[in-house]
Amino acid sequence: MPPPTLWVMAQREWYADGLRFECTQCGDCCTGRPGFVLFTDEEAAAIAERIGVTPEEFHEKYTHDTAAGRSLAEVKSEFGYDCVFLDRDNDLGKPLCSIHDLRPTQCRTFPFWPENLRTKASWARVAKECEGVNRGNLVKIEDIRIQRDQHKA
Ligand code: SF4
Repeated sequence: MPPPTLWVMAQREWYADGLRFECTQCGDCCTGRPGFVLFTDEEAAAIAERIGVTPEEFHEKYTHDTAAGRSLAEVKSEFGYDCVFLDRDNDLGKPLCSIHDLRPTQCRTFPFWPENLRTKASWARVAKECEGVNRGNLVKIEDIRIQRDQHKA
């Protein structure tokens, strides 16, 4: 066992000084290659209530099975596979999440997912796919940890 100071240093995340992220609302993380957006029963119930369907209808019409579990459904578009809740037909002329305040934890915690934070190289890979990574205000380590651990849960 190393001395306590060395042990604490070894535990320090490489992003201990924080990371920059600012969502540009480009909508790219809600489309593209087929993927999955997992959700909890509570999240499903809240979304179902918002869009005025029963939990059963929500399950049937707005979700589907994936290798990772039951996910929000996808709709094929010219951009790839859109999340079923991505609204491309609005007055602002840009893709928007139509359930933004109720979006599942997986969406809320992006890009601070454990797999994206594993190494600097993983973070650099996300930065290639998301224009909001490494721009905007610094997100403090305390806030990153909360989002990372929420996603893990
Ligand atoms: S729920 Fe909203 S934020 Fe999440 S993938 Fe769908 S459109 Fe994007």
